[in-house]
Amino acid sequence: MGKKSTNADKAIFKDIFKEHWEGFKAKHPGYNTEQYEEPVQKMLGCGEEFSGYSEYICMHCGLDKRIVPFSCKSCFCLSCAKKYTDDFVSQVSEMLHPGVIYRHIVLTLPEQLRGIFYKERHSRDLLSAFMRCGYECLEDVISTVKKRPLKIGCIVVVQTHGRSGRYNPHLHIIMTSGGVHTELGKWHELGYFKYEIIHKKWQYHLFRMVKSYIGTEEINRLVDELWKKYPKGLVANVSKGNVPDSCKGLARYLARYVASPPIAVRRILNYDGETVTYWYQDHRSKSKKIERVDVYTFIGRMVQHIMVKGFQRVRYFGLEATKTYKKWAKVIQEGIKTIGRIVKGAYQIVRTKKYRERYQEISGTDPMVCKYCGNEMELVRIWHPKYGVIYDEFERLKTGQYAQESGADRRSGCAVRPSTGAIQLSLF
Ligand SMILES: [Zn+2]
Ligand SMILES: [Zn+2]
Repeated sequence: MGKKSTNADKAIFKDIFKEHWEGFKAKHPGYNTEQYEEPVQKMLGCGEEFSGYSEYICMHCGLDKRIVPFSCKSCFCLSCAKKYTDDFVSQVSEMLHPGVIYRHIVLTLPEQLRGIFYKERHSRDLLSAFMRCGYECLEDVISTVKKRPLKIGCIVVVQTHGRSGRYNPHLHIIMTSGGVHTELGKWHELGYFKYEIIHKKWQYHLFRMVKSYIGTEEINRLVDELWKKYPKGLVANVSKGNVPDSCKGLARYLARYVASPPIAVRRILNYDGETVTYWYQDHRSKSKKIERVDVYTFIGRMVQHIMVKGFQRVRYFGLEATKTYKKWAKVIQEGIKTIGRIVKGAYQIVRTKKYRERYQEISGTDPMVCKYCGNEMELVRIWHPKYGVIYDEFERLKTGQYAQESGADRRSGCAVRPSTGAIQLSLF
């Protein structure tokens, strides 16, 4: 692995966009839309005071002061990528059925079809259909293997970039190793099966989906050609990952694959104002490849992966579907008991971390402790670029908002805290 990303690396990424984003848009007007502008501007303003901040002061000695700028929390922002990953892990870990074995399957597109997806990148529909198609394919696989109609559970994550940053949409699927016969309400465990069956099934489902989605003569011809070319199915476009044996860490394992930004900062080796040099791990040769591209190409490789606003990159299907999760959880638990597998505790639920914890993790110091007297600092002000000062501790003190409070929450008389102890920031 390369060196750990540093603030200097993140600054390089920002610099590239600061200096060339406008020029890039002029050259490629297709990117001059909100879909791309918003995340890029968010990233550029992330952590800057003009994007809003919270201010902390030591109420004990009055000497230390801390400005904590808001972060943008966008997956495009390298500074926020860790937060994004943590949130992802936390969300997914709550959706895993205890005791169930999961499998990780990667479904990709044959090269010849990537262009079609690339053309549709400003729309959410094709990628949505792609995700559902992956789920339907695997449900078909399991039902065929078990010779009965089964409902399976899938957590599907779509990613559009390959390791080099080029456009290469593929699905990472975490699938239940088994399914429920919905009419009988019975769980069927999937044992060993030949993965080759997925190759044929994936070809069938993917080609059928693309044909019906695009529906032009040209596409039909292309797909028919591919059918002839790959009589054994899409061999190169199916792979399985090694899901950790233990219950712990499954979500984190998945996050490694799916939550990474197109190119991690630590992979940028050099930026000279005109060209960017970066490296990546080549999938086929397993070796480190270094690429040097002009800055517009680099920006293009980054922004082409920004999805339509609000697009759900992680989706839950079948037994994992949010609405019916609880209903199926019961059936699955009973089924697992019947086959005699001991449920060794639940999947580890990962909690999202607060700014303070994350800061502490990275820097090793508590950001909220006064460096002069060691007391905990207090939130005194929140400033938002659009709404101005939205919280002011001194104003609250002046207007006597503490007068009616019991004072039970006050610590040793020196620090006055808001009554709730937490401030709700529901404005954004
Ligand atoms: Zn102090
Ligand atoms: Zn950010």
